[in-house]
Amino acid sequence: MLMASAMNWRKATILVSSSILGNCLLNNITKELLPNYSQSARVRYNSTELNLHRNVGFIALLLNPTYNNSVFMALIIQKFGGTSVGNLDRLQHVAKKVAQTRAQGHDVVVVVSAMNGETDRLLNLAKAIQIDPDPREYAVLLTTGEQVSTALLTMALMTLGCPARSYTGAQARIQTDNHHEKANILNVDCQALRAELAAGCVPVVAGFQGISAGGEITTLGRGGSDTTAVALAAALKADECQIYTDVDGIYTADPKLVPKAQRLDRVTFSEMLELAGSGAKVLQQRAVEFAQKNRVPLRVLSSFQDGPGTLVTFEAGSKEPSPVTGIAASQREAKLTIKGLGADSESMTQLLTALNAIHVDIDLFNQQANSAAQDVNFTLLRDDYARAHTTLRKFAEKFNASALIEDMQVAKLSLVGVGLRSHPAIIDKLFKTLGTVGIGIQLVSASELKVSIVINEKEIGHGACALHTAFGLDSATP
Ligand code: ASP
Ligand code: MG
Repeated sequence: MLMASAMNWRKATILVSSSILGNCLLNNITKELLPNYSQSARVRYNSTELNLHRNVGFIALLLNPTYNNSVFMALIIQKFGGTSVGNLDRLQHVAKKVAQTRAQGHDVVVVVSAMNGETDRLLNLAKAIQIDPDPREYAVLLTTGEQVSTALLTMALMTLGCPARSYTGAQARIQTDNHHEKANILNVDCQALRAELAAGCVPVVAGFQGISAGGEITTLGRGGSDTTAVALAAALKADECQIYTDVDGIYTADPKLVPKAQRLDRVTFSEMLELAGSGAKVLQQRAVEFAQKNRVPLRVLSSFQDGPGTLVTFEAGSKEPSPVTGIAASQREAKLTIKGLGADSESMTQLLTALNAIHVDIDLFNQQANSAAQDVNFTLLRDDYARAHTTLRKFAEKFNASALIEDMQVAKLSLVGVGLRSHPAIIDKLFKTLGTVGIGIQLVSASELKVSIVINEKEIGHGACALHTAFGLDSATP
């Protein structure tokens, strides 16, 4: 029996006194295993299998002399987004990556999105026939996109000699409620997937879909393949859930808007939630919530370039956090102004109830009142506006509003960071910075980890760059 001690799993220093554990294995452990895997793992070295267990502050290595290899093994969920499987060359590249991971001795479960643009294509077909597509048929139609990628990727894996089998959400027994457009996962019965893994096969699971108790096909909301991956990682107790995408991690801002954006080595779950909820498109917000709740180790990586990506962590780094970790930009907003409402609170209550009933969320909100009347401004998702339109018109009529003004030319910028809590001067700096470059702020909202503003959509890049510089993110060293 060998003992290795470590003060902290992630920054472990391993002290080992054994001839079996040469430098090579030590390097493997410190470089690859410790930063990535959280609970326990098996390491194969020569004729020895070592079981590594995290055990409050130390790692015990137990010898079991039956295997013959020199790699460590883990169960990894690898999820590939639409651009990663966007054409056949890319799909074959993904197959090689999966086969390589498998060849290193790891168990792999793959989750795939529909090929780039396919979900939108299907959605447009539906909308060309029915303005507000029937929810059941919407789900039946949209889930075909992921089925295409699972079958093709499975075939590509087979041609590489890697045993694989495709699974729809229903076949993978991803059980959801019966909301067709944005279902919640209730349970994953992973017996079938476990048997597949035990037989040495790679299950390739269709993301974004599940099945209700009544046997109906459901979808998990746009971007929902991330949630599939996280749910499978939680159910299978995977060592890591890797989300492969077209960027090599989470950035301080969208590099397309802010050329000086920097990759973050790590970001906390709470920051990631705020970023994802504020328009950062890399991870679906529900997936981050699910991962946080189920303590799934989550990493965002590029399909096209090697690198450590960004690890989503539970604790903030040991360094004094800078007030702002990242800036999220959203161009999916619409701003509504209702003028001349009665000054009582009844109208507002009814407005919120009516929107709630049709599942439309209000985001930023502002109310200007005098003794006789009030104007309200608020934002909602542009996608939701078509659904909310009739309700809002009726509401405006009922309460004799003098005008209902819609503005689709707005964008939202959100500063996010755990450090915001202790920096009350952020809003002041934000106003000064944007004032200096001549950008008007239409709405503001602030919470513990986030300050959001609404500006003219045309100014989004300009505004994001100015704030990125002002808050010291141009040369971030997180
Ligand atoms: N294909 C779905 C979408 O485009 C789900 C996903 O990609 O995660 O929203
Ligand atoms: Mg996505």
